[in-house]
Amino acid sequence: MARYKHIEVPKDGAPIKVKNKKLMVPDNPIIPVIEGDGIGRDIMKATRRVVDAAVEKAYKGKKKIAWMDVYAGENANRLYKEWMPQETFDAIQKYIVALKGPLTTPIGGGFRSLNVTLRQVLNLYACVRPVRYFQGVGSPVVHPEKLNVVIFRENTEDVYAGIEWKKGSADCKKVISWLNKTMKTNIRTDSGIGVKPISVTGTRRLVRKAILHAITRKLPSVTLVHKGNIMKFTEGFFRDIGYQVATKEFRSHVVTEDELWGKYKGKMPKGKILINDRIADSIFQQVLTRPDEYSVLATPNLNGDYLSDACAAQVGGLGMAPGANIGDYVGLFEATHGTAPKYADKDMVNPGSLILSAVMMLDYLGWDKAAVMIEKAIETTIKKKTVTYDLERQMKGAKKVSTSQYATHIIKNMR
Ligand code: NAP
Repeated sequence: MARYKHIEVPKDGAPIKVKNKKLMVPDNPIIPVIEGDGIGRDIMKATRRVVDAAVEKAYKGKKKIAWMDVYAGENANRLYKEWMPQETFDAIQKYIVALKGPLTTPIGGGFRSLNVTLRQVLNLYACVRPVRYFQGVGSPVVHPEKLNVVIFRENTEDVYAGIEWKKGSADCKKVISWLNKTMKTNIRTDSGIGVKPISVTGTRRLVRKAILHAITRKLPSVTLVHKGNIMKFTEGFFRDIGYQVATKEFRSHVVTEDELWGKYKGKMPKGKILINDRIADSIFQQVLTRPDEYSVLATPNLNGDYLSDACAAQVGGLGMAPGANIGDYVGLFEATHGTAPKYADKDMVNPGSLILSAVMMLDYLGWDKAAVMIEKAIETTIKKKTVTYDLERQMKGAKKVSTSQYATHIIKNMR
């Protein structure tokens, strides 16, 4: 067993392992938990109770998660005098699957976001955001139930790679002068500059994950989202590599949109996955006007960032939107909202985003019985209109309950 300075490894748990490219999950897996700052304390408590109850009920005590607290953010700063200690990275890397609450990004002092750091250091290249509607939740659209998508957003490159030069800096001047002189561009000298790398490596592994997801879940389509009409060699390249991955690695599983019309006269052959692509601006109107035509969306970093929040808003907001950052094996499952400091320790906010992220985590472990049980219990709890303040204010005749009471209702509604 690894020795840590502050992390205590639970004695009643066993590590998840990777064997023959597959996760081997024991009945008592050790799962590192970053509680999170602000409302993290309330929602993590509620989430752990809900998950433990579902696992106990679904597997009649044969399975149990051995939670292992690991530290990041404010509590790490108190314990280690640093915001993101090395042993937190080490523990997540070693134990493979982890759950995380929101973290404050300290402002100033040259801090990078702790969240971005975690994704980069652990090479969690796919940000996965399922978006579905829960009956009864207030929504700005007429038919929110028609949207049921999973967004796979590339997490490591694009304009988020962090390659930027400040206007007027010596480096920025150097870059502009080199581009204008050598590459014959015409960039204004009072510009700031950012670089947008999109690679074969980054695109392939992301699109591969999206297609594999569609295959294992028997989903009908994977849509490559890009702005390739304008940015041909980055976004257009993403689309081209995406089609290559689909037709070279998954030939027997997929039909491209061209093939659908050219070869199959518009009628999808049974059991195949449609691979199509949509330009970024078009997909934003498509998810509003034809939401039920989309299933899995694979996108570069920036498009995915915008699109996942827009889709989440369509089904009732970020309070219910789960997410995960996944690499080859390591998966960090996290609430998509922030630390909402004004509500911290008030036992008030909606734990839904973190609970649904834990549902994704259970799914990732192959514990789908517990995952389905929680999702159904949330559906029932919302249908019965016992909800936290954020949902109550959008629902007629709802009863407002606290974070912990909401968790208790979910547990009671498990079947
Ligand atoms: P935020 O924490 O997401 O909160 C913004 C608003 O969203 C809240 O005031 C609340 O709206 C609503 N909200 C968020 N979580 C909710 C929940 N669980 N239940 C109900 N309503 C919820 O965004 P922020 O205030 O911009 O950011 C605060 C801190 O969080 C910052 O330090 C930021 O860096 C950090 N952050 C972390 C992550 C992460 O760890 N992944 C992500 C984003 C931001 P109402 O007041 O209208 O009810």
